[in-house]
Amino acid sequence: MSFCFQAIRCILEFQGGRATVKFCVLASGSSGNAALVATEKTRILVDAGLSMKELGKRMEAIGENLHDVDAIVATHEHSDHVSGLPVLARNRHMRAVIYMTRLTAPAIDWGEIPPQRLESFQAGAGFAIGDIEVQSFSIPHDAIDPVGFTFAAQGVRIGIATDLGYIPESVKYHLRRVDLLLLEANHDLDMLKVGPYPWSVKQRVMSRVGHLSNMVMSDYLMQDLDGCTANVILGHISEQNNHPEIVRVIAAQTLEARCSAARLTIAEQRTPSEVFQY
Ligand SMILES: [Zn+2]
Ligand SMILES: [Zn+2]
Repeated sequence: MSFCFQAIRCILEFQGGRATVKFCVLASGSSGNAALVATEKTRILVDAGLSMKELGKRMEAIGENLHDVDAIVATHEHSDHVSGLPVLARNRHMRAVIYMTRLTAPAIDWGEIPPQRLESFQAGAGFAIGDIEVQSFSIPHDAIDPVGFTFAAQGVRIGIATDLGYIPESVKYHLRRVDLLLLEANHDLDMLKVGPYPWSVKQRVMSRVGHLSNMVMSDYLMQDLDGCTANVILGHISEQNNHPEIVRVIAAQTLEARCSAARLTIAEQRTPSEVFQY
């Protein structure tokens, strides 16, 4: 009897469209990155490149509480991805376990107190956090051991690939069959060339271990985006060398050219994205 009741409740919840997997980009760009992947049981923060106070505010803005986060997974040690991490690791109201590759962890300046709840993993490893399956994969970027991630729960797959100089076949492989993709669209090549950065920095950004240009993003959408990807979020957009509207127009034209029905969103630096729900 109780099984029947449970089954009916599940069907009603499903028919009512109740969301079970959520995703939100809390911040995206060179001044700070963070995103939330959540089920009803598990909350994972991907990167913590904002102060604890600001992260708390943005979580509140989407109806979540930073203290409820179960895990923080870090992509790499650049400050725009981990600047809030040492404070979060020390805070006694936080219970989140911090996951990062075993080479990345020593590259973080933790201050005087090393983190108590640290789990290191090998780049390329997969592991479970609560009811979410996490898969890491190496990305080409000028950090010690940078990774992207896919997250899978209840048949929904989410992929995150930002901070990479190009998209190798191995990354394309991991991004297949994702329902939602957060992809980098860092710079417009012409704007970067005439922009304010010193030449050495321009070379770094354009290099195979730098950041993705609009052109590379567009090529990916045209040739490699999986037909099942319903949501494409473009992020880590440079404030000096790109513009959200340029990114939007290029991506929209590309998706239209390949007759893709994927919905396009531009992730912002200053405000959280909508909460995507599956
Ligand atoms: Zn980086
Ligand atoms: Zn970055």
